[in-house]
Amino acid sequence: MQRPTELWRTRLDGMAVVATAHWHRLEDGRVQCDVCPRNCRLHEGQRGFCFVRQREGDEIVLTTYGRSSGFCVDPIEKKPLNHFLPGTPVLSFGTAGCNLGCRFCQNWDISKSREIDTLGASASPEQLAVAAERMGCRSIAFTYNDPVIFMEYAMDIADACRARGIKAVAVSAGYMNPAPREEFYRHIDAANIDLKAFSEQFYQKITFAKLDKVLDTLSYLRGTDVWFEVTTLLIPGHNDGDDKLRRQCDWLMEHLGPDVPLHFSAFHPDFKMRDVPPTPPATLSRARRIALDAGLRFVYTGNVHDPGGQTTTCPGCGAAAVVRDWYDLVSYAITDDGRCESCGHAIPGVYDGPAGAWGRRRLPVTIA
Ligand code: SF4
Repeated sequence: MQRPTELWRTRLDGMAVVATAHWHRLEDGRVQCDVCPRNCRLHEGQRGFCFVRQREGDEIVLTTYGRSSGFCVDPIEKKPLNHFLPGTPVLSFGTAGCNLGCRFCQNWDISKSREIDTLGASASPEQLAVAAERMGCRSIAFTYNDPVIFMEYAMDIADACRARGIKAVAVSAGYMNPAPREEFYRHIDAANIDLKAFSEQFYQKITFAKLDKVLDTLSYLRGTDVWFEVTTLLIPGHNDGDDKLRRQCDWLMEHLGPDVPLHFSAFHPDFKMRDVPPTPPATLSRARRIALDAGLRFVYTGNVHDPGGQTTTCPGCGAAAVVRDWYDLVSYAITDDGRCESCGHAIPGVYDGPAGAWGRRRLPVTIA
């Protein structure tokens, strides 16, 4: 397949766009984007639901290649990934738009933006890889909005980073069709997938998406080399009932096994759900208890101070292998090759040398 970067062109309005591969023409004259299950069917000039993929010249183009809403160096624990190069800094960025319509979006200024308002920064894949290396980042993360919708840009960045020994992380809702998903994850080393609730009704009413497609992505990832963790933002009264949580954890156990890390994070009122209160810490602890009882071995609370709920316990001997407070590593007892220092039991994840010492800092950066 021709690489999208070989197909750059500049429009009359000065915007750089790239051709994309996952679409097909329909008999009625429309062109269907096949990247995600939304399958937008577009007339000439129309944009898809995500706003960044557009029909232009009888094909689908990506309009945000090479552009970003800004760059930050974050702790990898903020993605959240607790079992992937712990303590290391990750160069993080997003673009604009999203293929979901979550009413509770915690990044709505980016995900709902029309690109011109927010995409002030620009960088080529090579510039980003060089910058990540210069700043000592072990990985680069596509985050803040879903990389599914800018997959051509993300894959080129991942390739440029791999050439320099830097890994690529996708933070995604996992709402993607099989063929583009397979292409995308060939370039990705680690992912955090948002499992927003264990209810089709919740997905359809509150995110305008479908649960079964997200579960398909989780099952798919289980069969790849991509390290992945799962996050559920607990929204009081909407997805935090015992029954739904039990069914979610049972599904994860059955389909992904006990070693997939699961994060329950706290919601704050935002976007179109400002009338819902923040998640009480007791809800996070209750959900964690349900998941542990279901048999999951690495269950964490997030967006709160809860060292107990953020500790990695060795499944072999029960020792505290990693104690965290928010994004800080308070203590770390895992060997350079990922084993418990007390008993030698392997701790699932990706480890390569000692833990990093980035701490909880969030450092906005400019890519020149
Ligand atoms: S990626 Fe965007 S344009 Fe393509 S189907 Fe999904 S929402 Fe529609």
